[in-house]
Amino acid sequence: MPNTTSPECLFCRIIAGELPTTFVYQDSRLVVFDDINPQAPTHVLIVPRQHIATLNDLRKDDDGLVGEMTRRAAMIARDRGISSAGYRTVFNCNQGAGQTVFHIHLHLLGGRSLTWPPG
Ligand code: AMP
Ligand code: ZN
Repeated sequence: MPNTTSPECLFCRIIAGELPTTFVYQDSRLVVFDDINPQAPTHVLIVPRQHIATLNDLRKDDDGLVGEMTRRAAMIARDRGISSAGYRTVFNCNQGAGQTVFHIHLHLLGGRSLTWPPG
């Protein structure tokens, strides 16, 4: 099993309340907070409380958790009024894709037009 928390991990520290963060949403399995370096008018991170380093570390038992993350992103998009216009959800996996925090998180970006393909 992956560790449930990692003392070295920035997002585990945020979840533990060790760093000042305003949670946009939280429940027993997930937290959501604004990205510190937003790339769009809405840029939030949907983060499981459980420490899982990368998408490559997901196990079958985590399928429900990832589903909750995805649906939570859609619910926040709806609440922000960006559902119809469109938004993007992104998991970066490992350095080559730009992952910098090794605790999985789903980016929700919206509120402006977004080009494709990404850089
Ligand atoms: P990634 O590059 O996919 O690993 O995404 C990590 C994200 O975490 C980046 O978009 C950072 O801007 C964001 N980030 C880093 N430190 C913090 C923090 N203390 N609070 C909120 N977001 C953060
Ligand atoms: Zn962590």
